Amino acid sequence: MNTDYQVIIIGAGAAGMMCAITASQRGRKVLVLDHANKIGKKILMSGGGRCNFTNYTIDAENYLSNNPHFSKSALSRYTQWDFIGLVDDYGIDYYDKGQGQLFCRKSSKEIRDLLVSECQKYKVRIELKTSVLDIKAFPPSQESEDSKTQDNQDSDGSRFVISTKNCDYQCDSVVIATGGLSIPTMGATDFGYNIAKQFGHTVLPTRPALTPVIFDQKWRDKTQTLPGNSLKVTVSTGEQSFTDQILFTHKGLSGPAILQISNYWEPGMPLVINLLPDLDAAIWLEQQRVERGEILLKTLLSTQFTQAFSEFLCNELDLNIKLKQLQHADLNRIQMILNEWTLYPDCYEGYRIAEVTHGGIDTNDVSSKTMESNKQSGLYFIGEVLDVTGHLGGYNFQWAWSSGYASGSFV
Ligand SMILES: Cc1cc2nc3c(=O)[nH]c(=O)nc-3n(C[C@H](O)[C@H](O)[C@H](O)COP(=O)(O)OP(=O)(O)OC[C@H]3O[C@@H](n4cnc5c(N)ncnc54)[C@H](O)[C@@H]3O)c2cc1C
Repeated sequence: MNTDYQVIIIGAGAAGMMCAITASQRGRKVLVLDHANKIGKKILMSGGGRCNFTNYTIDAENYLSNNPHFSKSALSRYTQWDFIGLVDDYGIDYYDKGQGQLFCRKSSKEIRDLLVSECQKYKVRIELKTSVLDIKAFPPSQESEDSKTQDNQDSDGSRFVISTKNCDYQCDSVVIATGGLSIPTMGATDFGYNIAKQFGHTVLPTRPALTPVIFDQKWRDKTQTLPGNSLKVTVSTGEQSFTDQILFTHKGLSGPAILQISNYWEPGMPLVINLLPDLDAAIWLEQQRVERGEILLKTLLSTQFTQAFSEFLCNELDLNIKLKQLQHADLNRIQMILNEWTLYPDCYEGYRIAEVTHGGIDTNDVSSKTMESNKQSGLYFIGEVLDVTGHLGGYNFQWAWSSGYASGSFV
């Protein structure tokens, strides 16, 4: 039995590394276990290789959770400014890509390396290619006095035994930082959810989020001339709206506005797209009909959209006529399609390329201050494994930093 470590963190991703740094700065002896062959694989691939590591504006409103207040405490105690300060300390060059989204100018690797350096500085041990087989908790009363080490003599909490293929470890605190289900090829597993269930936690239903959506075959055929076309629109579902680019793909729709709305949309719900978010189409069409009656509808639309998309719209409307020939009913139909184009995508593209997982471990049984389980003392859950899902724009990493810091301050 290895009793060298007080804190064992499972998952060497963004949240696990931040927890390790914070705990080791407090003098805790920390071991991080990960079954992958590299530290922070998702950090490396994030933001198109430039890691959108935080956002200038972070608010609980940018997160979805069954308990919308849960993220507030951790976000306020380790803020975007704290992480920006760390990035500045390492001299990493970054820029605001718009809407406060901060990206590395060079490479995501700089953020991963920053975390590794901090871990080295504070003597965190990281073991890769290590699968955890079992976690058992022993309440203080059941524990053999002999198994106490000098280091944890003063601890009156539970002890854990973590079994891996090569070694059994005993520790005071276990932190589950195994992330969500997206990109299984990068090492994503349901391990964290299973451990949560083992200790009596509720795991809320999970689904891919920040993901493209897919059309059924009929709509793929209809839109076959559109892949590669990109438009700035407002896309809405229910009460939620996002104004940004959408991109037609061979399978359906992607682009930042679609990724954002995918956090809220579910199959069967409509996606309502305002193709001219800065214009009232009814007023604009009437004006154009009076002033430019001789031009074709297709020509008018191509002042706003690509040629391919203008032709697509005219085909959809079955209108290949001059503006002066448009009847009142035609104008209504055009206005509807321009301001309220309603689509029913078939499904999400899926975990294969989704950026995050919506749902996860119910936060009602986790302390928002420490991230400790209310069901099992000494057990902590951080990062994406929890039911906290950020918008696109650096919010998911900020949640990883903030929740990692919160737990690292208490383990
Ligand atoms: C393509 C892509 C791009 C993204 N870009 C951004 C971005 O630019 N900005 C942003 O804010 N967010 C982005 N995200 C989301 C962000 O990467 C995650 O929200 C964040 O990494 C979650 O951190 P985490 O530490 O909770 O989990 P992860 O970073 O996923 O880390 C979990 C770790 O646990 C390990 N693990 C899993 N199961 C086990 C097991 N059974 N045993 C041992 N170890 C295990 C994994 O190998 C992994 O190292 C992106 C995601 C993807 C997929």
